[in-house]
Amino acid sequence: MLSEELLSILVCPACKTKVTYFRQQWLLCDNPDCRRKYPIKDDIPIMLIEEGDKWRETAPESLPDTDQLRF
Ligand SMILES: [Zn+2]
Repeated sequence: MLSEELLSILVCPACKTKVTYFRQQWLLCDNPDCRRKYPIKDDIPIMLIEEGDKWRETAPESLPDTDQLRF
């Protein structure tokens, strides 16, 4: 679980828009032109542009559980 304090300062590294905490596993960029999605692994947000790029075309409800992913 990420703290409210941490969530309040996180922004998308690609476009600097705020992100939405989703299923306690993902951070979704709120910018509709960006749509990058950043996985959270062991409570550590992976805020890398190249990671966000992988999920741009994936709908939020289709995102996998992040404990299934390898980094
Ligand atoms: Zn973005």
